Amino acid sequence: MSEENLKKNLENVQEKIKAACQRAGRDAAEVTLVAVSKMKPLADIEELITTGQMEYGENYVQELCDKYEHVSQPVHWHMIGHLQTNKVKYIVDKTVLIHSVDSVHLAKQIEKEAAKKGVTAQILLQVNIAQEDTKFGVDGDEVIKMAEEISHFPHVHIRGLMTSAPYVADPEENRCYFRKLHKLFVDIGDKNIDNVTMDILSMGMTNDYEVAIEEGATMVRVGTGIFGERNYNK
Ligand SMILES: *Cc1c(COP(=O)(O)O)cnc(C)c1O
Repeated sequence: MSEENLKKNLENVQEKIKAACQRAGRDAAEVTLVAVSKMKPLADIEELITTGQMEYGENYVQELCDKYEHVSQPVHWHMIGHLQTNKVKYIVDKTVLIHSVDSVHLAKQIEKEAAKKGVTAQILLQVNIAQEDTKFGVDGDEVIKMAEEISHFPHVHIRGLMTSAPYVADPEENRCYFRKLHKLFVDIGDKNIDNVTMDILSMGMTNDYEVAIEEGATMVRVGTGIFGERNYNK
């Protein structure tokens, strides 16, 4: 995409985030925009870096590693896609946050690789809040138990929850799910589990991030709205 359009899109999203915060009586500084750059060229990322945008989300391990290696600035990489245990080792010390942890088994592998590399992995638990068959993520009623189990891993720090809401024509249809996840987020925070900090609620994508912010998102993941449509047939 042309430089001009990229920057315009980013500004447009930033404005909408501000407006949504205002409607909800929230401070815009509470919401972090992760620019989802999957399947988009590094040149687009380099262009946005010049505006100060430093948070980028990727879905595929290989692509994240390639971009990590070649990018000109030390930006913050977020792993937002489904993560296989055998690939954890490639990204555990390259990412600031892994959004897509949906089993104790996966967390155990993250623990092992983080310990090896001498880092503490920051993670979110991915919740399948709308209970869609096609989506990854743990069921809402299993999250607390999972958080308690993972809290014992010394090199893994749970920072909050993440969800991908259903794809809907009208984002209002997802408001109930965002509200539900926010409630779960608050409930788990209230439990004061050792080594669990509930300070990041990652929800909202291009189609529904404004509603997600109104319902308490602290992190939104916007791809298409910044970089344009992805071509999956390439
Ligand atoms: C692709 C993706 C996004 C961004 O989606 P857009 O609709 O392009 O904004 C956000 N979160 C996850 C988990 C994704 O896979």
